[in-house]
Amino acid sequence: MIIVLKKGADKKQVEGLLNWLRERNISPHVSTGERETLIGCVGDVAKMDIGLVQALSVVERVQRIQEPYKAANRKFHPEDSVIDCSGAKIGGGGFHVIAGPCSVESVEQMIGIAKSVKEAGATLLRGGAFKPRTSPYSFQGLGKLGLEILMEAKKATGLPIVTELMAIEQLPLFNDVDVIQIGARNMQNFDLLKEVGAMTKKPVLLKRGMSATLQELLMSAEYIMASGNPNVMLCERGIRTFETATRNTIDLTVIPVLKRLSHLPVVVDPSHATGYAPLVEPCAMGATAMGADALIIEVHNDPPHALCDGVQSLTPQMFENTMKKIRALRPYAWHLEQ
Ligand code: PEP
Ligand code: MN
Repeated sequence: MIIVLKKGADKKQVEGLLNWLRERNISPHVSTGERETLIGCVGDVAKMDIGLVQALSVVERVQRIQEPYKAANRKFHPEDSVIDCSGAKIGGGGFHVIAGPCSVESVEQMIGIAKSVKEAGATLLRGGAFKPRTSPYSFQGLGKLGLEILMEAKKATGLPIVTELMAIEQLPLFNDVDVIQIGARNMQNFDLLKEVGAMTKKPVLLKRGMSATLQELLMSAEYIMASGNPNVMLCERGIRTFETATRNTIDLTVIPVLKRLSHLPVVVDPSHATGYAPLVEPCAMGATAMGADALIIEVHNDPPHALCDGVQSLTPQMFENTMKKIRALRPYAWHLEQ
């Protein structure tokens, strides 16, 4: 961290700042130039509130040199993290597709979809039991029963289960769930992130909040990791922009950017990102070509009658066609995991 002092800064106040830094185990190195005086800070500044320094009358500006996240930072962990999701290893060059309906609706629906997505090449099964809906009048998910149905589908197909946790009180019900999803709306529910970090080592699929920067996404991953769970995957699911032609705006730039900043696997959700089934395939292909480690795609046996997100759901036939195109894009990565 570098502190740039104001011209003619009061010496006594500067001395006070230097002592304040030393009290926090930070070694300040002052360099007085012709135009500016800088204080280079060496030590652990991650926990420091830089706003406190910024607010001092002698300070012109403060610049962080190092990112505020450590556990998620590639600088401290150069190799890709590979997250073992009950046998499906995500990250490090392989490629996986998570597929299934937005919400669990019935045993027949779930087992039918699970079998067809497995047949098409999906290696993990999704389905929401606890649903974060914008309207309290919309279908809220089957809750505990939904989780039981997911277990039946897992028994029938062997596919590991990915499902959303909305509140920490639900965690005891997640014993047989393979991957815990933290949804976009909960990306900054810091108490939930801390609990998921402290109470389980299960893989966590952390979705980007709809107006979250990548630094905020990485800081949320940091919450989980700093609390004790290193098994985090980052998921781009579209962000809010001025554009209204699609449900959200898919930000595929995040794939190479996150991979430079972090060692965590990057998953892309073209379903929530676009909100419209015909747009899912081209965005899935784009994300695959750009190096995503996995995709998460909504598939429903009868989209017009789906209880949630039918408009963006692929039919099993559409999913099979999309999978053929994806496979052709990265045959080697695909082969690694089969
Ligand atoms: C979901 O994947 O079911 C979901 C609700 O997604 P998001 O949190 O990205 O809106
Ligand atoms: Mn959905």
